[in-house]
Amino acid sequence: MNTLLNTALGLAHRGVPVLPLRAKRPPANCSACRDTACGGRPHMRTPGPCRCPLPCHAWAAATTDPRVLASPQWAADWHHADVVAYHPGGAGLTVVDLDNVAAIEWARAALPATRTVATTRGEHWIYQGTMRSANAVRAGVDVKSLMQYARWLGPGTGHMTALPDAVRVLVDQAAPVRVPVRPTATRNASRYAMAVLDREAASVTGSSQGERQTALLRAVRAVGRFVAWGDLDRTTVEEAFTRAAESVGLSPGESRATIRKALNYSIRTAWPRKTA
Ligand SMILES: [Zn+2]
Ligand SMILES: [Zn+2]
Repeated sequence: MNTLLNTALGLAHRGVPVLPLRAKRPPANCSACRDTACGGRPHMRTPGPCRCPLPCHAWAAATTDPRVLASPQWAADWHHADVVAYHPGGAGLTVVDLDNVAAIEWARAALPATRTVATTRGEHWIYQGTMRSANAVRAGVDVKSLMQYARWLGPGTGHMTALPDAVRVLVDQAAPVRVPVRPTATRNASRYAMAVLDREAASVTGSSQGERQTALLRAVRAVGRFVAWGDLDRTTVEEAFTRAAESVGLSPGESRATIRKALNYSIRTAWPRKTA
């Protein structure tokens, strides 16, 4: 039997939902599931009726069902996989993914010790408990729990401790800042527009794999009118969204095209500014 599938079945038996990964990516959706045309799986953020037998929808494909894992529909993806991934939230866990030495040093000072697993350049710190996931909560740090997958790189070492507030706070701070929507005086317009840009870029950074493209489109359109009104310059906006899109794994080419199109659209269709 495929060794990865063997590992996956062992984890599934212990209640850890798993899926295959190839070059750090989950299997691509099948043609019926492409762009979530199927509506998505029942446990996704926007629940849908999808019962696709293939490992579609990234983290949402992760399962503990040995019949699904060992099914012929999953066989090709196990064959091409190079690592097993798991859905931390589905196993009641949160993974603090520390990308580099600096991030590990920060964690040693800021977070309680817990079970750790070595990764290629950094470490996973695994806590008991679930929370909302978010990428890039600080330099080199992702939080992977609900609606996310993480690479399974072995059981690691150390005693697992309960998810501390220090981790929850990271994601809360990275959450979109709520800016009241109100007519603004012109002298404050740029500052207000900048706050909206920050908020919208953060909403892209916090989006999950399945919705990052939609999140990017929505966010760019929300900011476009400020470019039309001259409150923000176009380059600033394009750069902020390109960074946000890259942080959630969209390719630079793909994100630049999406950003350009969405900006053009909202500049063309922007309403004249309302004055208070
Ligand atoms: Zn499918
Ligand atoms: Zn589907």
